[in-house]
Amino acid sequence: MKTINIAIDGPSGAGKSSISKAVAKDLGFIHVDTGAMYRAIGLYAIRNGCLEEEQITKQISEIEIELKFIGGVQRVFLCGEDVSDYIRSPEVSMAASRVSAVPAVRKHLLDLQKKIASENNIIMDGRDIGTVVLPHADLKIFLTASAEERASRRYLELREKPGCPEYEEILEDIKKRDYQDMHRDIAPLCQAEDAVLVDSSAMGFHEVVEHITALIKEKLD
Ligand code: C5P
Repeated sequence: MKTINIAIDGPSGAGKSSISKAVAKDLGFIHVDTGAMYRAIGLYAIRNGCLEEEQITKQISEIEIELKFIGGVQRVFLCGEDVSDYIRSPEVSMAASRVSAVPAVRKHLLDLQKKIASENNIIMDGRDIGTVVLPHADLKIFLTASAEERASRRYLELREKPGCPEYEEILEDIKKRDYQDMHRDIAPLCQAEDAVLVDSSAMGFHEVVEHITALIKEKLD
């Protein structure tokens, strides 16, 4: 059976995951957040002190990543442990961005991502989905927003929580991750030639969900 594959790429904090999750729910598809897989490997690297390319490359075959969809919601397992609740800290974000530039890490995750896409109707979000993982996706979307807008959304999300970083710190972090993701040698973040650009800087959450759902329905009709 041919499955339907939608690729959504874009920079950190553009809302890819929350938007993909909502769109997938509307359409009855599975949402695959590939960033969570890199985050789980980042967490492994922090826990085991192997953030350097040579070290992580040596250990990669021992790093078992598995995705399970419980009630339609993705959980990520690292060597059998559900680490979904431990991978959202700024420290893990940076570690994920760092290990994701290592060729052995990308190779390790590529087959798993392709396999999931071949078995399910999915919306897969990440950085290289339209360019590398699913070059023949039914529809590719590049979802972005200005760095300032992304930092301000993140700040509003975090500001009630204890230890919330300053806006400037969040902005710096976003710019640093953008730079790392766009300038690595392997599978850098870039818009696929045949991707539809959606700039959400001046759009609300529901507006973006509706717009992307409409693009998908139009494509599949
Ligand atoms: O999307 P998210 O911010 O959770 O991803 C964490 C990090 O994982 C990103 O900064 C990026 O470096 C890396 N990543 C990647 N390729 C993907 C998804 C995420 O390199 N397909």
